[in-house]
Amino acid sequence: MPVLIKGAGVAGLATALELSRRGIAVEVVDAAETVGTGASTYAGGMLAAFCEREAGDEAVLMLGLSSADWWEEALPGAVFRKGTLVVAAGRDSGELDRFAARTRGYEWVGGNAIAELEPDLAGRFERALFFAEEAHLDPRKAMAGLYETLIASGVHFHLGCSDVPSDRSYAAVVECTGAAAIATTPGLRGVRGEMLFLETPEISLSRPVRLLHPRHPLYVVPREDHRFMVGATMIETDDDGPITARSLMELLNAAYAVHPAFGEARVVETGVGIRPAFADNLPRVLDRDDGFAIAGMYRHGFLLAPTMARQLAERLCAGEHPPFTPVFEEPAAADRHPSFRHGAIQ
Ligand SMILES: Cc1cc2nc3c(=O)[nH]c(=O)nc-3n(C[C@H](O)[C@H](O)[C@H](O)COP(=O)(O)OP(=O)(O)OC[C@H]3O[C@@H](n4cnc5c(N)ncnc54)[C@H](O)[C@@H]3O)c2cc1C
Repeated sequence: MPVLIKGAGVAGLATALELSRRGIAVEVVDAAETVGTGASTYAGGMLAAFCEREAGDEAVLMLGLSSADWWEEALPGAVFRKGTLVVAAGRDSGELDRFAARTRGYEWVGGNAIAELEPDLAGRFERALFFAEEAHLDPRKAMAGLYETLIASGVHFHLGCSDVPSDRSYAAVVECTGAAAIATTPGLRGVRGEMLFLETPEISLSRPVRLLHPRHPLYVVPREDHRFMVGATMIETDDDGPITARSLMELLNAAYAVHPAFGEARVVETGVGIRPAFADNLPRVLDRDDGFAIAGMYRHGFLLAPTMARQLAERLCAGEHPPFTPVFEEPAAADRHPSFRHGAIQ
């Protein structure tokens, strides 16, 4: 019997990959007609374990350190290992010291080094923090790439389907439904993130640039074709209605502060995603009657999905969940993975 994953966001697809790598038959169901329509589609795609330590737990840093390697192995060529540049306008330069005090893994760089890293930012900032070990990817391409990889490895998708197919049996169900789980998961809340895409041939950036500000710290992440993702607000609500005028202004102001040529850029898309989060903003693998759930990816879905998916796959393979046990008795599963023995991968 296969394992069913509910939800084809980054958590669901990463879990599908980890399970199928272990020789486990996997099916994925998603309410939407295509994969990656939830919060995952609006993400910046920053694999920024060091920067996220500024407001996050040490666990985010530790669990996220190997993320770029996981993505590179899953999707060769998808990861840009260019680091992150953290800047602040002159009047906010104290924010850089505060950020530095709360993080590690950076070097201070001056105007010349900033110009070498990002020639289009020459002369714009006197000093910055450079986190050389960080990386980023294009979330939409990554989701499409995972989907193709999973299809090629025999994973079956039921798209446009919001429930477990009634004519089939599953060894376990793994719920990765993102913000939809807020209604049924105690302690889970929504944190709204608004973003936009700007397009301009006037500016080239190689890496995410974070602009510190006492009230609205925001970032610009370069994509292909002269596009830039500008994100993201952090609002304590699960209202996923259209972006507000205030947020639009804040995001555009931040982009303009990074480079005035963004003032002439075209706004080609705006978007809103709900980040599901627990009180400590750390994700969890939760037990469910029929299997498990991965919940609370907050603002770290791309950074932490690899670790969460691996943890879940290990628990399933260790036979921790009773309904999963029959899978290990199937000869087909043992054939697929030579190290299946007595309900555990050894
Ligand atoms: C603006 C913004 C910027 C972000 N930037 C970053 C970043 O730079 N780096 C980073 O690591 N993270 C970032 N994040 C966070 C990241 O996007 C989320 O943590 C991640 O997308 C959550 O993934 P998920 O798979 O849990 O949920 P989702 O991506 O929301 O996927 C859930 C899926 O479940 C499906 N579904 C729901 N209910 C059902 C049902 N009943 N049956 C079947 N399917 C169902 C939905 O259709 C959806 O496809 C950002 C988030 C936002 C909003």
